[in-house]
Amino acid sequence: MKRPVLLQGKESLLRWRGRLPPEKTLGFVPTMGALHEGHASLVRAAHEENDRAIASIFVNPLQFGPREDLAAYPRSLDRDLELVGRAGGDAVVTFTDADMYPPGFATFVSVEGLTEGLCGASRPGHFRGVATVVAKLFHLVRPHRAYFGQKDAQQAAVIRRMTADLDLGIEIRVMPTVREHDGLAMSSRNAYLSPEERGRAVALSRALARAQELLSKGTAGAKALRAAMRKTVKAVAGPDAEIDYIEIVDPDTFLPVARVERRSIAAMAVKIGRTRLIDNEALDPPAGPEGPGTPKPGDRKPKP
Ligand code: AMP
Repeated sequence: MKRPVLLQGKESLLRWRGRLPPEKTLGFVPTMGALHEGHASLVRAAHEENDRAIASIFVNPLQFGPREDLAAYPRSLDRDLELVGRAGGDAVVTFTDADMYPPGFATFVSVEGLTEGLCGASRPGHFRGVATVVAKLFHLVRPHRAYFGQKDAQQAAVIRRMTADLDLGIEIRVMPTVREHDGLAMSSRNAYLSPEERGRAVALSRALARAQELLSKGTAGAKALRAAMRKTVKAVAGPDAEIDYIEIVDPDTFLPVARVERRSIAAMAVKIGRTRLIDNEALDPPAGPEGPGTPKPGDRKPKP
């Protein structure tokens, strides 16, 4: 295994980037460290689809709320370097808070609309923090492609929007959620769970599976799907699991839909003990004449 080169701060990143011949492509994976197989899958894709792959590790204070887990967020640089190396990454860049936000810093990137619901509603300022740091990272790294996880579906949509709106000219690649054997989506925050909470945390993926199951049997109304998901969460995680949100949303606008009539996303955030976990799955209307599928050209309109 080749250990990736560790670049500390902007100067060494810019020197490394400057040595990359112009005809070579660069894939970029922004992370907050405490890396796991979900991150590894992004680095692997960046490595396979580009001449060079780089990951950043920066626990971005701007995307944490005042009562969130910034100070407690897990940090494990040595293991992270090994994981990036095993996944084929060439470099890892780290930053200090002062590197990113020197005194006087006053410019922010704010993506509107998309950021109003779900995690945007429960974590005010979160997506402004994400968009600002990713815009800065894109300018510093100047990648051809950047890799994000479907696990954070709303975040990926925000980055896509920002990249298009600001003409950043970077291809945004969104890769599937990597899960533990029982279905729990991998997350650095899973490290906070006690063994007992870890058992209950499977409630999220179970609720998403329940929504898929009901949909495949013809239940396409969002209200019924949400109620069934809520019931599964309470049954698996216990009555005091705190549901932050359970929503069925449009994948482009992230606004709630009333029925799954075309591809939608079931998204949820649940607190297990003190740990807030998120997960989501795409929901497709079942095909076939009886199903609530998207009308095809030539379909007759139902009589009123
Ligand atoms: P984070 O370090 O949590 O900020 O995540 C960095 C990137 O890894 C983001 O694009 C996440 O969506 C992605 N990611 C986190 N967990 C997973 C997972 N289980 N599967 C795929 N991608 C993930």
